[in-house]
Amino acid sequence: MSRTADRNLAAELEAPEAGRNGTPVDARCCSCKRVRAKFASKIRGSPGSFQHVCHVCCRVTWWNILDELEDVIDDETLAKLGEVGQ
Ligand SMILES: [Zn+2]
Repeated sequence: MSRTADRNLAAELEAPEAGRNGTPVDARCCSCKRVRAKFASKIRGSPGSFQHVCHVCCRVTWWNILDELEDVIDDETLAKLGEVGQ
């Protein structure tokens, strides 16, 4: 059973807090260790870290990428999110 089997990753990516720019990834907040699907931009290193707002920490924190989620979210949903973000 995969780590993400009981989560709705597409729904997490569609939430406003996931952001709208960059690559869909599963990531862990370096501060509170919360795991959440987000869009990562300006990724540093490999597998990579990026800065994003954490709604648990209530500030911008560093997130470590756990997985790429490009296969989880379909192109149609991505396109829809792109329209919302513009
Ligand atoms: Zn946090």
